[in-house]
Parts: sequence; C-alpha cells; structure tokens
Amino acid sequence: TFDDLNVIAVEVAASAGARILPLGTGLADTLFEHDGQITRPEVRAVTLAALQPKRGQLLWDIGAGSGSISIEWMRQHPSLRAIAIEADAPRAERIGRNAESFGVPDLQMVTGTAPEALAGLPTPDAVFIGGGGSVPGVTETAMEALPTGGRLVANAVTLEMRAMLIELHARRGGELIEIAIARAAPVGGMTAMRPALPVMQWRWSK
Ligand code: SAH
Repeated sequence: TFDDLNVIAVEVAASAGARILPLGTGLADTLFEHDGQITRPEVRAVTLAALQPKRGQLLWDIGAGSGSISIEWMRQHPSLRAIAIEADAPRAERIGRNAESFGVPDLQMVTGTAPEALAGLPTPDAVFIGGGGSVPGVTETAMEALPTGGRLVANAVTLEMRAMLIELHARRGGELIEIAIARAAPVGGMTAMRPALPVMQWRWSK
C-alpha cells in the first residue's frame, strides 16, 4: 500500500545517510546550526502554537537568529511562507543553510535591522518578534503592518522587553503568559531541575 511505500522510503533514505526529520514543532536545537541564539524547543513549540498558522499565510520573523521559528512555521504546510529578518550578517547566512537542510529553501531572508528593514515587505498574516522588539518603532511597525485578524506574538527575556510587553498588554489587550522550563542536570553527585531563563510571551490579534 501507499503507507507501506512511505515507511520503506523513509528507511531507504535513512540508510543512505539522509536526515529524517520528525514532523511537528519544538525540534531539538542540535538539528539546527546555531550560535546559542536560538529559541529553545519547548518555547518554540508554544510559540508556533500561539502563531496559529493557517494555509497560505505569510510570517514575518523579526530577529530570526537561526531561523528556527520561520523554518518550523514553513514545515507545518507547503503553502506557508515566511520572511526571516535578521540584523547580523553571519546569522542571516546561517538561516539560509538551515532552510536548505530542513527542506524549506523558499524561506525568504532580509539581512537588515528592523524597523527600517521591514519597509516594503509584503503584508504579513502573522508576526513573531524574537529580537529587536525593544528597538523604537519595531513593535509599532509590526502592529500597523498586520491586517485585521492578523496575529502578533512577541517573546521577552530581558527586563526592558518584558516592561514593553506588560505595557502593551495593559494598553492593547491580548494575552500575556510566562514560559518557565527546567531540565534535569547534574548537581554534585545528584541531579536537580536547572531552570532556564523564563520567557514572557505576548499574543495579540488585530
Ligand atoms: N528566534 C530565534 C532567536 C532570536 S535571537 C531562533 O530561534 O533562532 C534574537 C535575534 O534578533 C538575534 O539574532 C539578533 O541579531 C536579532 N536582532 C536584534 N535586534 C534586531 C533588529 N532590530 N532587527 C533585526 N534583527 C535583530
């Protein structure tokens, strides 16, 4: 049957040394090339769910880092499109390599600093702000660019960005959550749950 053929195809590809990537979101960091600036898998999975991709939609991924959010967005469905905006040139090049190795070579890239780099881009259906959100004009430009019904999701680790999100939530509504993850790690001869930096997330529909 077709299902059997799919299973065989995966086995043949794996034995030929191909990378077989799981479906879904929150893929391991180790699958991406990155320099430490990457949204952690658990936070990434929650972020993709919050972005609520729908067929054919376009994402702006502002401060794209390794491109992991854009890549997982595009992997949800072949009709999904994304533009990764990244200020750091070596990181932008890395996004291109990750897009190739994850089978989403159509990921568009803009090497530049937001908000200037956002000028003239096609209208997004959803915007993720993972970096540069506290730079004056970035969040405002993103909110203005969205059509009615568009989604905005912004993550904050720093106090500066958290203060902005608390203020936006108070003024514009939406949802404000915090994602606090801990992972078992060696402590002395024992094991303890080591907390990662908590991430505040603001979700807003226009
Ligand atoms: N979500 C990313 C990680 C983002 S790290 C991932 O999963 O890989 C934040 C990124 O924002 C950094 O790479 C930084 O270079 C970028 N950045 C910061 N300010 C920016 C700005 N104003 N415009 C574009 N990129 C910016």
